[in-house]
Amino acid sequence: MHELSVCQGLMQQVERVAAAHGATAVERIVLQIGGLSGVEPPLLERAFEIARAGTVASGAELEIRTGPVVVQCQECGGKSAVPANRLLCNYCGEWRVRVVEGEELLLLTVEMDM
Ligand SMILES: [Zn+2]
Repeated sequence: MHELSVCQGLMQQVERVAAAHGATAVERIVLQIGGLSGVEPPLLERAFEIARAGTVASGAELEIRTGPVVVQCQECGGKSAVPANRLLCNYCGEWRVRVVEGEELLLLTVEMDM
């Protein structure tokens, strides 16, 4: 499962953040997942249940926000927010576009107990 390795990488980030702040426990984690990141939120939630065991975040809640997909047109230069399965310019209908947002997986917030 791809999501499990994603989640384990994430837990390392969370543990680093917690250690840097001297936190004893992490209460809540907020993630933003781009529509093109290839990560399925329900699978990521299941992976999180496994990955958090024995870590500083073992009792943490996970909130997943789905980020937009934004493309920039190579023809007219316009930026459009588009569905992940329809990567076309909203202004001129051009298909030669560059993805500027949507492939990311961001750790937005780590709420800690000090
Ligand atoms: Zn265009």
